[in-house]
Amino acid sequence: MLVGDALHHKDSIAARGITDAFIQSQLLADRVGEDLRDPAALDAALRRYARDVDDKFTDFFRSTLNVAELQVPESRLSLLRAISGNQALTDRYFATLSGACSIDDFYNAELLETLANV
Ligand SMILES: Cc1cc2nc3c(=O)[nH]c(=O)nc-3n(C[C@H](O)[C@H](O)[C@H](O)COP(=O)(O)OP(=O)(O)OC[C@H]3O[C@@H](n4cnc5c(N)ncnc54)[C@H](O)[C@@H]3O)c2cc1C
Repeated sequence: MLVGDALHHKDSIAARGITDAFIQSQLLADRVGEDLRDPAALDAALRRYARDVDDKFTDFFRSTLNVAELQVPESRLSLLRAISGNQALTDRYFATLSGACSIDDFYNAELLETLANV
């Protein structure tokens, strides 16, 4: 069962390879748990892990493909312009890109208010 860079390709600009490797390693360890020596339970745990990583990382893989197109949509440009003068929002933007901050934490009330006033 694969984790980290072996699991899926990503663009280095995302700067989230280490975060992903830790999250996936933790997921795998959590799923396998005590079942390491029971072949049937291990098989089931590995299938659950495969579903977990599909659920959690398919969107990130798609965003890698979007980045590779080297075309920035107008909606992203508007967002970047809106946060460019705000250090806290800029920090959270890069923390979100790296996986250290969740999307829900990024799109908080402060950001929504900033976007509404653009
Ligand atoms: C220049 C650079 C800058 C980066 N900057 C960032 C960053 O700022 N933030 C970030 O999150 N990520 C960054 N990354 C990506 C990050 O380093 C990787 O995504 C992360 O290290 C992947 O971890 P991993 O455990 O999957 O693989 P690796 O860290 O590559 O570990 C794999 C290990 O397996 C060993 N190995 C390989 N083949 C065998 C074998 N046959 N037998 C035994 N051992 C073997 C290797 O020697 C290596 O130690 C950067 C990568 C590079 C190259």
